[in-house]
Amino acid sequence: MQKLMKTALLLLLSGLLFGCQPTAKEYHTTLLSFGTLIDITFWGVEKDKADSVIKKVEKDLQYMHYAWHAWQPGPMGRINTLLETTASFSANPSVLAPIIKARELAISSDHLFNPAISKLIKLWGFHSDELPKGPPPAATKIKKLLAQNPRMDDITIKNVSIKSRNPHVKLDLGGVAKGYGIEQIINLLINHGIRNAIVNAGGDLKAIGRHGQRPWRVGVRDPDNKQGVLATLEVKEGESVFTSGDYERFYQFEGQRYHHIIDPRTGYPAQGTRSVTLLHANATTADAAATALFVAGPKDWQRIAKQMGITAVMLVDDKGNIYITPEMKTRVSFITPPDKLHVAIVD
Ligand code: ADP
Ligand code: MG
Repeated sequence: MQKLMKTALLLLLSGLLFGCQPTAKEYHTTLLSFGTLIDITFWGVEKDKADSVIKKVEKDLQYMHYAWHAWQPGPMGRINTLLETTASFSANPSVLAPIIKARELAISSDHLFNPAISKLIKLWGFHSDELPKGPPPAATKIKKLLAQNPRMDDITIKNVSIKSRNPHVKLDLGGVAKGYGIEQIINLLINHGIRNAIVNAGGDLKAIGRHGQRPWRVGVRDPDNKQGVLATLEVKEGESVFTSGDYERFYQFEGQRYHHIIDPRTGYPAQGTRSVTLLHANATTADAAATALFVAGPKDWQRIAKQMGITAVMLVDDKGNIYITPEMKTRVSFITPPDKLHVAIVD
């Protein structure tokens, strides 16, 4: 609920910032799916046509949300129950496709993006729509799950058969589902003849075409100020912008803050990063990479970015330093020029 309110505020803010008064050419709607508000804008599409395409988008989103839920009795829930047998079984292709992609992305991130750690996410309580209240889990419990070492390369997929050699692998696509979902929706729009659109799930987005005479423009949130915008960005055709931040989902317990991005090496919320924003053509890759670079942190993100083929990145660390690649630097306009800006190369 808190997340929804934050997202609503952000939408309102970006509306005010960019003067998004709907014009005759602009069509705008907000859907609720994946536990978040999804903001869809078209340019130059007739209202009746737009309404009918949006109905299809809504149905697709509903199906994906049902299919990919880690702990509910849908296709993913079934996979999670059967993987522990270590025997192979047939699975629903609508879940296999994102798992194949997530496996590839986990490997290229050195398993810092690791959607096989669902048991750990559940232990922390971040698997449910309701935010956990704490206390944090006991160190012994975390240690036990770490020792089980679940990884995406424990999984083998052949046609529609899947198996895991490690009975402790449980999948949580939370770090990539939004990206995969946005990619699907953009493809659906293109298939229905929509040429100019932006699909924005709380700041994570992909755009096609343009907003009339100008490119699509978006705001990048300031991790220190929930309602504030750190910078603005013009989104190129077919480009995705993704952010992972420690302010997205967290709880406080006895003065300590615990957020939802878990470092698979320690079993605890990743340290050292406040937010990572990056650009990539593919929304699924962008989503996984934002999570992976967040975990990699200020010292190691360049190496992982290179491995994942990401060249436009901005990382804000817990000391207020902003690390930015030359490509990203040419793309963002800061609201207030930052004093601790460091240019860092990914080669
Ligand atoms: P958001 O969805 O808030 O934009 P992310 O894309 O970074 O943020 O995804 C965070 C979600 O991914 C968590 O809620 C959890 O379900 C899952 N997750 C947490 N840590 C990891 C990790 N190291 N690798 C893969 N998935 C993770
Ligand atoms: Mg992500």
